[in-house]
Amino acid sequence: MTFAMDVPNQSRPFRDVNLFTSDRVLREAVEREGGGAAIPQLMTFGQRTGSAEAFERGRLANDNPPRLRAFDESGRRIDVVEFHPAYHECMALSMGEGLHCASFEHLVGPARPGANVIRAAGSYLAAQMEAGHCCPMTMTNASIATLLLQPDLARSWVPKILGRTYDRSFRPVSDKPSATLGMGMTEKQGGTDVRANTSIAAPAANGGPGGEYLLTGHKWFMSAPMSDAFLMLAQAPGGLSCFLVPRFLPDGLVNSLYFQRLKEKLGNRSNASSEVEFSGAHGWLIGEEGRGVNAIIEMVTYTRLDCVVSSAALMRLALASAITHCQERQVFGRVLIEQPLMQSVLADLALDSEAAAQIAFRLAGAFDRTATDEDRAWRRVMTPVAKYWVCKIAPNFAFEAMECLGGNGYVEENGLARVYREVPVNAIWEGSGNVMGLDVLRILMKEPDAAALVLDRLADHANGDRRLSTHIEHVRDLLHRPRELEANARTFMEGLAMAAAATLLRVHAPAFVSDAFIGGRLEGPRNRTYGTGISRADTAAIVARASPRR
Ligand SMILES: Cc1cc2nc3c(=O)[nH]c(=O)nc-3n(C[C@H](O)[C@H](O)[C@H](O)COP(=O)(O)OP(=O)(O)OC[C@H]3O[C@@H](n4cnc5c(N)ncnc54)[C@H](O)[C@@H]3O)c2cc1C
Repeated sequence: MTFAMDVPNQSRPFRDVNLFTSDRVLREAVEREGGGAAIPQLMTFGQRTGSAEAFERGRLANDNPPRLRAFDESGRRIDVVEFHPAYHECMALSMGEGLHCASFEHLVGPARPGANVIRAAGSYLAAQMEAGHCCPMTMTNASIATLLLQPDLARSWVPKILGRTYDRSFRPVSDKPSATLGMGMTEKQGGTDVRANTSIAAPAANGGPGGEYLLTGHKWFMSAPMSDAFLMLAQAPGGLSCFLVPRFLPDGLVNSLYFQRLKEKLGNRSNASSEVEFSGAHGWLIGEEGRGVNAIIEMVTYTRLDCVVSSAALMRLALASAITHCQERQVFGRVLIEQPLMQSVLADLALDSEAAAQIAFRLAGAFDRTATDEDRAWRRVMTPVAKYWVCKIAPNFAFEAMECLGGNGYVEENGLARVYREVPVNAIWEGSGNVMGLDVLRILMKEPDAAALVLDRLADHANGDRRLSTHIEHVRDLLHRPRELEANARTFMEGLAMAAAATLLRVHAPAFVSDAFIGGRLEGPRNRTYGTGISRADTAAIVARASPRR
């Protein structure tokens, strides 16, 4: 019997690729949005995250999901979660890059121009290596925005959070070189409706901002349970309030957080998401009692940006895998990439991938440039709009990319099956689709000028393109029908996202990309599938621009 050592006509797996240098759209976006100084650093990180070892790390961390050890062998509670070493390696790599804190390093050093863009680019690369560990990266970075509302707590915690050396050990943060933070909002009876929280917080002494409270209740979802502390909502005497709840108390004792179970999830399997109960857990109030939602929303604004970046990153990974497969796989005697029908599908995917990346990095840039009205309006209005649109299109995108690999795409080893299972979570957590719509409605009520400003600037950039101008005016029309707006909030968000994407492409991408995007998406019928409405486009040029291997 002979064994085939040489396997013909199977493509090389997509790995051992520099994820930064091979991604032209990413490189251009980073440079344009103010992160150019970090390009050498991103080239190195792109090499490390795209290596075969890094992809193997991602596989191992997901094939060996975390396990809860609630008790020791004697029946005493220990409440620890054990992870595969590969997960810890991902954490160490990403923390070394500062993905858990880089938005706020100006607090202890010189301000770095483009800090949010550079961090977004790093997250974009890390998510392609392994997406699950990006959850603690995101929450830790974002938690600083809320901690700053309570300067005494910020003084003791923020310098620790800014440490870049990951320490997996379960011990007081005073003994560690760094810290990670999680978030506890969602309870059984309500996630979106956090005001329905039933966990209570009683003042240990006098209470008030920075004061100590005892928390009793539960959280139904609390991810990254081995974080060093959590920002939690609970009902204080003055109303729903935000607390810093550490795993260890200042005297070194373990705080009273009792993990009940870990969630059995569709994807995101390397990351632990716990159910937790607490009875008399110590927490320190951030801000005033009754201002919990206002406090935690500072954090959530940052986590929503990361949802957009992560979805765009996973779309890029799926696209790059599909293109490289089709460059090598022959069917009916010709490589797939040369076959017109496949070229239409790949080009159509490339248009959405570039649109998602352009929006993600334009938004990250708006987090850096807070001095201009336009950027403030972008951050305010486009954070929920981008979170809605990019995260919403990613699952179907991942499916279509998977199909480009045929049967191999559906098989676990390949990696796209994991991407397909991962992407829906970005649409669900940090505010689901309709919640983004309600958020946009609130912004329209409170700051009507912000949406008008975003639309005005898009219209300025559309100059001369009738299809784009007409589309922008359709979106603007919706604003003039406020009574219908709630039911139409998704229409408004999708319309505005498409307007922003088309405008960004028109200004920053070659004409063969922007014309195809505008022609295929703003004209003609809706409810299209990939590979339709693109017959007049230069599909070969679009695919060549997106190709990671040249
Ligand atoms: C893997 C994973 C990890 C998570 N980790 C954390 C964590 O670490 N910390 C944490 O606090 N939470 C976490 N969550 C919880 C997550 O944030 C919530 O599940 C999410 O916010 C939705 O809340 P819910 O599940 O209670 O759904 P609900 O609030 O019941 O919403 C159900 C649906 O109704 C829609 N909806 C809600 N209100 C309206 C309305 N007025 N009009 C129309 N539609 C509406 C929502 O968009 C949603 O689609 C996690 C969730 C997942 C899946």
